[in-house]
Amino acid sequence: MTFQDLQIAPAILKALREEQYTKPTPIQEQAIPSVLAGRDLFGCAQTGTGKTAAFALPIIQRLSEQPVKPNAPRRIRSLILTPTRELAIQIDDNIRAYGRYTSLRSAVIVGGVSQRAQEQALERGADIVIATPGRLIDLMNQSVVDLRHVQILVLDEADRMLDMGFIHDMKKIIAKLPTERQTLFFSATMPPEIAKLVQSLLVNPVKVEITPVSSTVDRIQQSVYLVDKENKLNLLNLLLQDPSIDSALVFTRTKHGADRVAKGLTKAKITAQAIHGDKSQNARQAALNNFKSGATRVLVATDIAARGIDIEELSHVINYNLPNIPETYVHRIGRTGRAGHSGVAISFCEYEELPYLKDIEKLIKKTVPQVKDHPYPMVNMAPAPKQEPTPQGRRAAKPVVAGKAAATGKAEGSSKSEGSAKVEGAGKTPVMQSAQGQAKPSNRRWRR
Ligand code: AMP
Repeated sequence: MTFQDLQIAPAILKALREEQYTKPTPIQEQAIPSVLAGRDLFGCAQTGTGKTAAFALPIIQRLSEQPVKPNAPRRIRSLILTPTRELAIQIDDNIRAYGRYTSLRSAVIVGGVSQRAQEQALERGADIVIATPGRLIDLMNQSVVDLRHVQILVLDEADRMLDMGFIHDMKKIIAKLPTERQTLFFSATMPPEIAKLVQSLLVNPVKVEITPVSSTVDRIQQSVYLVDKENKLNLLNLLLQDPSIDSALVFTRTKHGADRVAKGLTKAKITAQAIHGDKSQNARQAALNNFKSGATRVLVATDIAARGIDIEELSHVINYNLPNIPETYVHRIGRTGRAGHSGVAISFCEYEELPYLKDIEKLIKKTVPQVKDHPYPMVNMAPAPKQEPTPQGRRAAKPVVAGKAAATGKAEGSSKSEGSAKVEGAGKTPVMQSAQGQAKPSNRRWRR
């Protein structure tokens, strides 16, 4: 199937050729004809499937085909709601690229940056507005945005908007839209609140479900290292000595953790920056741009900050902390192996994260291969004591210079070296048994 077969207009086809999109992805194949025909849509798909183009292309096409009187004021005819600023900017970039040979205009309305420029963009007129709910509500309250002419509403990553507490804002916004409209609703998961929303907002929708969350990971090469919390930075430094890791997105649980890891890597002369919700919009965008351009090799992120990150050909995803929600693991590792590329996902699992690993393996219905022979095997096999305030001057073990361990010639673990690093099934190891409460604390050392 080609985009031409999907009845995409020549002006858009030209832009897609320039984007080097040779053929539609499955969600595009399934969604585009229905959206072009004006149907409501429920898309159960995650980032990485090509879902942005699945809604953006037919929106651009439908709006650009509508006759507009010369000198008539531009009205907002499509509203796209997304959970994060980064995702909004990403969608806008895509819409500008796909619509570059049309006369449509888009505007981004997001928090964390000055409102003035956004007001001006609205005054100049925009056909498509991509917004995060909070700032849009602010502008609605100030009557600087008019949503009475919206024909197509997109709720993108609706489950994440719910997670982020946007449900009331979403409802308030939707209440101001014409009831006669087309609604496109995307969510990677289907918790009961989402099911309720779908039922209340969509009229006779077409349902498109792409790659259920448990099977998206098949093309990604996964591995897990069981490692004590204190040694994770050492291990990360060590793995990053491998030049085949061009670019790595490292996930930490906390913002503080992201900062600490980025700092530790920088100290070890690995270019790294952190991106999370406490950073200013400009700092986040700068970190993202540096990563995209290759100026920094490692981007350390929390889940929420990473949600809008769209980087083609990201070679590695590293879970510095395993997430407690197994679906999050799938979302994270789906950042690599996009649009047909293969990818590598490496996870670090400390004792207290072993139950998370079990949940992940249950969800993806396979064992994540374990790299057993590495310099920092887990030795702490008991729950960590409650955190006492650290006495001044006492510090966690300093990261070793990664090259030192590597100099033994045994330290391996990248995509290329896993063959020699004994990748084995996780289920049989003493450590996994300890998760079930059977193993004794071990003094197992790295075998030399
Ligand atoms: P999305 O799921 O919308 O975040 O898209 C994931 C990535 O796939 C983005 O980098 C898109 O630019 C890219 N992409 C989307 N559709 C296609 C296509 N038909 N061919 C090649 N790349 C695509």
